[in-house]
Amino acid sequence: MQFKIHHEDEKSSARAGEIKTDHGTVPTPVFMPIGTRASVKAISPDELNALETKIILGNTYHLYLRPGHELIGRAGGLHKFMNWHGALLTDSGGFQVFSLAKLNKISDDGVEFQSHIDGSRHMFTPESSMEIQQHLGADIIMAFDECPPGRADYQTVEAAVDRTTKWIKRCKDYLIQNNGIHNWEQTLFPIVQGNVYPELRERNVEELLPYAECGMAIGGLAVGEDKSEMFETIEQMDELLPKDQPRYLMGVGRPTDLVRAVKRGIDMFDCVLPTRNARNGQLFTSKGIINITNHKHREEFIPVDENCNCDLCQNYTRAYLRHLMNVNEIFGHRLASLHNLTYYMDLMKTMRREIDAGSFDEWSHGYLKTMLENKGM
Ligand SMILES: [Zn+2]
Repeated sequence: MQFKIHHEDEKSSARAGEIKTDHGTVPTPVFMPIGTRASVKAISPDELNALETKIILGNTYHLYLRPGHELIGRAGGLHKFMNWHGALLTDSGGFQVFSLAKLNKISDDGVEFQSHIDGSRHMFTPESSMEIQQHLGADIIMAFDECPPGRADYQTVEAAVDRTTKWIKRCKDYLIQNNGIHNWEQTLFPIVQGNVYPELRERNVEELLPYAECGMAIGGLAVGEDKSEMFETIEQMDELLPKDQPRYLMGVGRPTDLVRAVKRGIDMFDCVLPTRNARNGQLFTSKGIINITNHKHREEFIPVDENCNCDLCQNYTRAYLRHLMNVNEIFGHRLASLHNLTYYMDLMKTMRREIDAGSFDEWSHGYLKTMLENKGM
């Protein structure tokens, strides 16, 4: 995998570049839609391609439980299994074990947990996470880390940082000793932990740097800390992470968060927000957030966003979408998801264009002023 920066903003840390993978080139900064269970909910690969999506994310925890990583391996890997021919990233499974499953025990060896589906007992270790991700075959695979809860005390976070460092070595050793089952390259991203404790963050970066080949991730943010603390940590990471590798901020966020993080040198994002909020009737638009189920949209025979060229905004009215959502029609979920993803993809495209044109900083001030002040974005 290769990362090339072709434009750096002079007034901020924003940069535009591209990541070359064996499944295509990904322009950055990039937002990765989430295909949790081998599908971006309600959206087809053709529709993702139409949005110029170049990379999506799959969730190791879910795919391990159902249908099983070995089955996906036999299908030819996750790309082929789900008919997605662009780049793929899988997480390590760790975050969802910590957030979804019933945890039984965390030890230096790994994490014992019970499935949220049937209560069956399982264990993830750095080695098994690598093995599972080798079967899934994503172009970018994530290190198995310990993600402590937001607001965790210093000692707890310090222990998680120590364990994250021990585990990256075991991830790497496993990959050196075991060839993948697919014939394309998989690149391991270490994940920096340390919550909002600067000295733990700094220590963890130093410890993980030797394992970073082409990319590092920032974990342990957007887990309940204040926004200001999150952005301070991102600024610290901007100073510490290698400039010539992509930086992936995990699990963030709202459109304004993306803009503020790009300003601070972030290249990659993922978040369930656009699709999850769409299914709840919350739409991101050029005029701010619309909650389509509100009564006031009942007889609005106008597009959700006149500046959007998605199927919903081109062909249907607010009143129609409101009706579909109110009677829980699947088509409503599809249209709303497509719209929100279009908003996110267009936003990333705009940021790349503004960085290339040398006008990102000015543009971002305008965007943030309007969207933060009165649009709820
Ligand atoms: Zn739209």
